[in-house]
Amino acid sequence: MKRTIETNNETIEYDFEIKKVKNINLRIYPDGKISVSANRWVSKRAVDAFVVSKAYLIFKALEKYETRKILPRVQYYTEKEFVELVKDCCQKVYPYFEKRGVGYPEIKFRKMVSRWGSCHPAKGILTFNKNLIFAPLECIEYVVMHEFTHFLQANHSAKFYEELSYICPDYKERRSKLREVQIKE
Ligand SMILES: [Zn+2]
Repeated sequence: MKRTIETNNETIEYDFEIKKVKNINLRIYPDGKISVSANRWVSKRAVDAFVVSKAYLIFKALEKYETRKILPRVQYYTEKEFVELVKDCCQKVYPYFEKRGVGYPEIKFRKMVSRWGSCHPAKGILTFNKNLIFAPLECIEYVVMHEFTHFLQANHSAKFYEELSYICPDYKERRSKLREVQIKE
């Protein structure tokens, strides 16, 4: 259900849904959509008051999303090509890590919402986000080198970035490009 409220001369339009949530939930999406859910015991007036109380946060978030550059969502490869590409990329960077005593990892793929990849050093597993199919090649290479570097440094310390810069000197440019790619579930 669409609802509209006025606050400080600004109109906030949001989608309202009754859900089995604890109290009231508010979500702001990068496309400007606001969705609010509440359990059925919460009155509409309380929901509106809640949204008004979050107005500052909402406008701030919307402003941030507007200024954020987002790449058009382009699928650059077929799924098969993508998997091959990541595996090729792993093969390509591996000799560098082999010299550092890293064993060849098991490569896995999974859809993830909060990260582009993960490294499990103890198990020797690298997992890549299937959503990288929407990322340009230079970003995929960046994620591969980033995750491999976690075999040397498990954290994101200064030492980690120092290690990363040896194999990927332009990691900052690649990383900021990757930030323009949207992650969806
Ligand atoms: Zn990392």
